[in-house]
Amino acid sequence: MSESSLSPSLSLLKDLALACGPPGAEGEVRKIVHREIGGHGSVQHDGLGSVIVEAEGNGPRVVLDAHMDEVGFCVQSIDEEGRIWFVPLGGWWGHVLLAQRVDILASSGRKIPGSIGCKPPHFLSPAERDKVLSLDQMYIDVGARDSEEVLSWGIKVGDPIAPRGHFEEMASPGRYCCKAFDDRVGVGVMIEAFRAALTGGASLSCQPIAVAAVQEEVGCRGAKTASHLSQPDLGIILEGTPADDLPGMPRRQAVLGQGPQIRFMDPTALSNRKLVRWTESLAEKKGIPVQIAVRKSGGTDASTTHLHGSGVPTVVIGVPARSIHTHSSMIDFEDYLNAIELVKSMVEELDSATVESFTHYDEE
Ligand SMILES: [Zn+2]
Repeated sequence: MSESSLSPSLSLLKDLALACGPPGAEGEVRKIVHREIGGHGSVQHDGLGSVIVEAEGNGPRVVLDAHMDEVGFCVQSIDEEGRIWFVPLGGWWGHVLLAQRVDILASSGRKIPGSIGCKPPHFLSPAERDKVLSLDQMYIDVGARDSEEVLSWGIKVGDPIAPRGHFEEMASPGRYCCKAFDDRVGVGVMIEAFRAALTGGASLSCQPIAVAAVQEEVGCRGAKTASHLSQPDLGIILEGTPADDLPGMPRRQAVLGQGPQIRFMDPTALSNRKLVRWTESLAEKKGIPVQIAVRKSGGTDASTTHLHGSGVPTVVIGVPARSIHTHSSMIDFEDYLNAIELVKSMVEELDSATVESFTHYDEE
């Protein structure tokens, strides 16, 4: 797959997925957001680093939110032999970490490669073989000779660490594997749908606002602070949602290739029912396949967005991704393109009367 053979959409998704953006250090992703949509409206930042791009327009304020951060780590200490001990930023499972590559975003500005240290089977006791190592027993091997050498590279306590990714198309065409599809697929859908709605020639009856939020993986913090600037009348939260087409999982609601997921609820937010049904029927009208989901676990930026001010109707639209929160998540590009089409159509169709109808509680 040569670089020149990538479509613009695929090439943008690749850039986004490979960019480093652990929580609180989303700079590389932020740069891409500026580059792609900074010229399509007025750009503001909240105090934590979220980007808010407000297009010109009249009508209800429709926020498209996606989070820029990915699960990562932070340097906790450096020992005398030059090992880097770390704490997780976001939800990691010990099973997926040993012997994985990472990049330490050193204070010096250098990116220092490392590998999460792993005992070979030769040194494992029978009891050790059967258990999952906890993260506080793991360290990063940067290949240093001692702590002096680590310090000479400008690595400091507190420096952020990102998983090292490799973007690859699988043998089955249109299926891609990389780190960080949670939530770079959401950022990509947000960028593409926002731009397409503004340049597609349709006259809009709402005011689209793109929000690239920080720090979702540590508690949806950027979506909360960004809301003070974006002042949403309606929120569309874009996610890389965990695919459930796994062995032993019945009642599937996020199967790769079966379309974007419309999430009704998870423990952190109930989507506005009328908005969900409206989105579902719009998808049907446009011939876009969707999967409706009721999730027993998980959470998204809807958790903080829907509680902004006196309450905001929200809906969560996700591109299913297998193995999220690992170095090797997997998506079907068709789901991604369908999510862009669906969100663009929503922005084109939303107007005052429609948005108001979602909160007409006195008529029920
Ligand atoms: Zn996410």
